[in-house]
Amino acid sequence: MPQTATAAEASRVRPEWGEARRIVVKIGSALLTDRETGTLKRDWLASLVADVAELVREGREVVLVSSGSIALGRHTLGLPTGPLELEQSQAAAAVGQISLAHAYQELAAQSGLTVAQILLTLGDTEQRRRYLNARHTIETLLELKAIPVVNENDTVATAEIKYGDNDRLSARVAGMVSADCLVLLSDVDGLYTAPPGTDPNVTHIPLVTEITSQIEAMAGDAGTELSKGGMKTKIEAGRIALGAGTNMVITTGKVMHPLRAISEGSRVTWFLAKQDPVTARKRWISGQLTPRGTVFVDAGAEKALAQGKSLLVAGVTRVEGTFERGDAVIIRSADGRELGRGLSAYAKGDAVNILGRKSSEIAEILGFEGGPELIHRNDMALPRKSM
Ligand code: GLU
Repeated sequence: MPQTATAAEASRVRPEWGEARRIVVKIGSALLTDRETGTLKRDWLASLVADVAELVREGREVVLVSSGSIALGRHTLGLPTGPLELEQSQAAAAVGQISLAHAYQELAAQSGLTVAQILLTLGDTEQRRRYLNARHTIETLLELKAIPVVNENDTVATAEIKYGDNDRLSARVAGMVSADCLVLLSDVDGLYTAPPGTDPNVTHIPLVTEITSQIEAMAGDAGTELSKGGMKTKIEAGRIALGAGTNMVITTGKVMHPLRAISEGSRVTWFLAKQDPVTARKRWISGQLTPRGTVFVDAGAEKALAQGKSLLVAGVTRVEGTFERGDAVIIRSADGRELGRGLSAYAKGDAVNILGRKSSEIAEILGFEGGPELIHRNDMALPRKSM
């Protein structure tokens, strides 16, 4: 367990750690389960959950991305060591995920925290409609002060539709919820000039500001049997995180209280993003997505947008194009000027039916409660002058 930090260690703590408001923490199977017995390392997990409680007390929001379902389930089912058939790992995940969720729930309750289980498949971050759904659910849980515990839905995932490793899954989740920091707890305390053990002269790299081919070459591609990713998938996670404006930390999880250790100056590698998550997301919305339609708004809505508000259905006069929930659309004023772009919360067919209607009427018309916003302000990018 880390003791009181020395001044030298404390000075290693980067301001980005103290400033991070929304933190995603990835916990690998090798840290959570005992290699010999295949059982859960409860004391270690209790120390991690206590760290999460500490961060929450400091006013931070935390999302956990936890592996461990297959490792725990294979032990319970008595499956042999070595690579598993797809069906076996799906079955193991089905059994192990329950134990995993149960352990989180029990330990979190001891620290006064509520946990929520989220199982994702690749489409949940790659398809825009499902992406919006998953994002909103996680956002809502965070607003309600619950700690989302995310894993891949390994029970139904097959090779073609799989993230495959939780390093990349955690980076996708961090981008999806615009987290400002992603922590990958690993079995090493960061990136080295070459995989440790392969060369006596390796040195630790404390800071990466760009993922170059040189950085990629340092990673090698080793992984252990328990953890799908080696350093290679962590670098790929870094690429995803940095693109989304999320800073990333790789550090060791092989100590008790691994998150407290970061605050106390333990050795880590920081990957620093060049832009913040909000800017990165707005750029993605305005620059990378092909708009599928146009929504025309009245003067009142135009004014509200200029004040940074969401676009309400009540302020929309006309829609064009063919778009689904989550697709990008162009927002135009009554006289046709482009005001910005955003992700539509409604598919065109639904939008047409509720145009100009009051919030109270929407659920009745559609038959489901979809909310008064056609485009939420967090899903919108307006040119600076009109923000
Ligand atoms: N999702 C897998 C599990 O929970 C682990 C994937 C990984 O280790 O990266 O067992």
